[in-house]
Amino acid sequence: MAQLSDDCFAFGGALMPVDEALAELRARLRPVTGIERVTLHEAAGRILAEDVIAAVDLPPFANSAVDGYAVRHADLAPDADTILPVGARVPAGGALGRPIRPGEAVRIFTGAPMPEGADTVMMQEDAEVLPDGRVRLRAGLKRGANARDAGEDVPKGTVALPAGRLLRPQDVGMAAALGCDAIAVRARLRVALFSTGDELAPPGAALPPLKVYDSNRFTLHAALTRLGCAVTDLGILPDRAEAVASALAEAAPAHDLLLTSGGVSTGEEDHVKAAVEAAGSLFFWRLAIKPGRPVALGQVGGTAFAGLPGNPVAVVVTFVHVVRPLALLLAGGTAVPPLRFPVRAAFRYRKKAGRREYVRASLVPGEGGAVEARNFPREGAGLLSSLVRTDGLVELDEAATGVAPGDQVAFLPYSELL
Ligand code: AMP
Ligand code: MG
Repeated sequence: MAQLSDDCFAFGGALMPVDEALAELRARLRPVTGIERVTLHEAAGRILAEDVIAAVDLPPFANSAVDGYAVRHADLAPDADTILPVGARVPAGGALGRPIRPGEAVRIFTGAPMPEGADTVMMQEDAEVLPDGRVRLRAGLKRGANARDAGEDVPKGTVALPAGRLLRPQDVGMAAALGCDAIAVRARLRVALFSTGDELAPPGAALPPLKVYDSNRFTLHAALTRLGCAVTDLGILPDRAEAVASALAEAAPAHDLLLTSGGVSTGEEDHVKAAVEAAGSLFFWRLAIKPGRPVALGQVGGTAFAGLPGNPVAVVVTFVHVVRPLALLLAGGTAVPPLRFPVRAAFRYRKKAGRREYVRASLVPGEGGAVEARNFPREGAGLLSSLVRTDGLVELDEAATGVAPGDQVAFLPYSELL
């Protein structure tokens, strides 16, 4: 298994812009996962290991896009209806077995092969069957209408699915349409997941005094699983550097990524930093981002390590910007930035220039059918309800100094992020 160099995350800068962080990850990381073949039913949510090249044209032969009548366009009157005899019938899966004759219409159904010589199909809704069995075809049909060419969707020999794609249901359908029943995907990235903090208690039992239930481990487990990772839940680590160091060192050999939350700021109760320094090597990336404090990156025994802050909202924002691309790149995936959608702000907000900020927001119908983003009324990075009761994040870039109602802003729905 590929190992990381000690300094793969070294970065000397002060505040790192988010785009630069992604560029650094792209430049430094190589896939560490092997390749395996899976059946198509197992392929969704996995990372495609090799380009899927079309072995056949899609569609494989010219066919009708509608139920109707196939004709030679040359037989249609340019400016008037045309009446033609119906000489044959071709259902999907059938064949005419001869070329279309001049002056003939052929009854045809969606997906049936175009008769040789026919180039155009009149939809049955635009055709009238006359009492004598002939059809009246309405004027104005363009040559080639309602006919699909062989290979018009995907030509044989071209890349139908690019390596690195996190496979979606429609991607799996494409592989099937090209005749594949199994495809090469990356082995699942093995992620060891820990929470850290003496105040944390696992859900499922009565809450002891002065404890809070551990939620980050569950948010992160779910988010990593959606990225196709095989996550090992290794529970809660105490706020003791030696305990953290030994747990990380023990997990490292059988995992590709070690992920913790909590304990990475610079307070005296933040022990993850010392633990990683003791067990491997550590770098801090101070992302120019709010919410989201420094993220610790490093490696332990050649296995990548990422330490996220503890506050649940900071966990989500740093997951999106660091862990998501990190996990995808280590797993051989393409770290595609999330889609951003322009919406109108329905709130006022001030920010400092120089860092990127994320405002939790709900989408609401605005004036004139526009979509508006309404911010969650409170800002605390510990407010899990702010994530549960909103639809996504409004992204305010480094240059912005604020938002006024009516401004166009970029909205990132959670479905793009988690
Ligand atoms: P820390 O980064 O360890 O200083 O933690 C910051 C805040 O996040 C504290 O209020 C912690 O109690 C809280 N926190 C840390 N880890 C978790 C977790 N796994 N689940 C819920 N809250 C957490
Ligand atoms: Mg802590």
